[in-house]
Amino acid sequence: MNSFDVVVIGSGPGGYVSAIRCAQLGFKTAIIEKYPTLGGTCLNVGCIPSKALLDSSHHYHDAVHHFEGHGIEIKGGVKANLKRMIERKGEVVDQNVSGIKYLMDKNKITVMEGVGSFEDATRIKVTNGKKSEVIEAKNTIIATGSKPSTLPFIKIDKERIITSTEALKLNEIPKHLIVIGGGVIGLELGQVYLRLGAEVSVVEFMDRIIPGMDGALSKELTKVLKKQGMKFYTSHKVKSVEAKGEKVTVQADNAKGETITLEGDYSLVSVGRRPYTDGLAAEKAGVKITDRGQIEVNDHLQTNVPNIYAIGDVVRGAMLAHKAEEEGVMVAEIIAGQKPHIDYNLIPGVVYTWPEVAAVGKTEEQLKEAGVAYKAGSFPMKALGRSRASGDTDGFVKILADAKTDEVLGVHMIGARVADLIAEAVTAMEFRASAEDIARMSHAHPTYAEAVKEAALDATDKRSIHS
Ligand code: FAD
Repeated sequence: MNSFDVVVIGSGPGGYVSAIRCAQLGFKTAIIEKYPTLGGTCLNVGCIPSKALLDSSHHYHDAVHHFEGHGIEIKGGVKANLKRMIERKGEVVDQNVSGIKYLMDKNKITVMEGVGSFEDATRIKVTNGKKSEVIEAKNTIIATGSKPSTLPFIKIDKERIITSTEALKLNEIPKHLIVIGGGVIGLELGQVYLRLGAEVSVVEFMDRIIPGMDGALSKELTKVLKKQGMKFYTSHKVKSVEAKGEKVTVQADNAKGETITLEGDYSLVSVGRRPYTDGLAAEKAGVKITDRGQIEVNDHLQTNVPNIYAIGDVVRGAMLAHKAEEEGVMVAEIIAGQKPHIDYNLIPGVVYTWPEVAAVGKTEEQLKEAGVAYKAGSFPMKALGRSRASGDTDGFVKILADAKTDEVLGVHMIGARVADLIAEAVTAMEFRASAEDIARMSHAHPTYAEAVKEAALDATDKRSIHS
């Protein structure tokens, strides 16, 4: 029987990063993946393909709406070729997943294709079709990720009533896409098809989109997306989604209890994701699963079985690739006897719409609820020279700092390239910077990053220079 120091089940960003760190630490490592390509949800049907389509549709949208203003004339008009966009997305995914295979080989990690299932706490069966092999694992890291979830009365037919996975490979641009759920995935994919010419309606149960983020971000994003043509039905509880031929009918009740009916040709169900443990036979190893379907772990990402750990979407916390990666590294180092730590408060959240939305730390709502005395500083993107030059004037940066100590407690941004700008806020908060620390740092001119400095000046004592 093949025997390993560490066996990782699942090759998403949690699993493959963990396997690499284990190999770096000198462990004999194997990774099991049930699909033929490595990289999990993120690389195959998540982060990467969605960003590829967001970028392609963004170029198209700019060509149609903004090129003329920049003095670029396109003779004969601009046409969206969805087939080519999807093909290109496939090429981007292929480059990324083959990159992971290269990294596995480079780090001498044994890659096993098949479903990994526990025989007991130290033996794992890898089943690929009719073939199966049992391997021995001193330590196991469960990184089996998540799958799209739905509502009990919605039947996902994958043709007209679809999840994000199908939305990444449609054969046609929808005429009317009805998005159920105004979270990150629904808004990103909704914007892809909005830019390509679809009518897009978003139905959200809560009273605002991106409900987990700071209210000001939600308000600004709603305003900008409405301006772009997206329609919103917030505080609407979906009660039925039916497909008949090429038609989809969605019914939802508003806050007054009145029913609205929306008719479209596709409905994207993006109401969240559920942890995935099907086929894992966790019970054979005695691993506890919570009522919410998550693998239960302690602060060291250890399950109730001491040599079995779990990371990423399958455990509690934000379902984000970079959170899974941090946990992957942490768990490898714990197995090696080190004492790593993750500050979950400093895991940034990003929405890759345009304008982008990014945040780290506490929201104003959270600070109010916790009774923390804070001060807020903000700066509008439209006051930046860089934003005027590119024409990306929507959005702002808001910094929340402790009223007494000036320590930065939360940073919330919406605007061009804020997905990248948020790294400055994470760095500052990691080093427990004050708003004045950021305000006194030189930021290159002209850049979008100047908005961070200006918001910090505003938070320090209302001494922003350019607003
Ligand atoms: P996964 O990536 O889900 O990987 C789990 C792997 O385990 C899968 O490959 C699965 O096949 C395999 N597996 C499961 N069970 C077994 C078994 N028994 N045996 C063998 N293999 C098994 N996050 C971001 O941070 N940024 C983004 O921009 C972003 N965009 C997204 C866009 C979309 C459309 C979606 C759906 C998700 C997006 N996410 C994004 C979320 C991100 O994809 C997940 O948080 C991340 O993939 C979680 O990583 P993971 O390693 O925990 O699990």
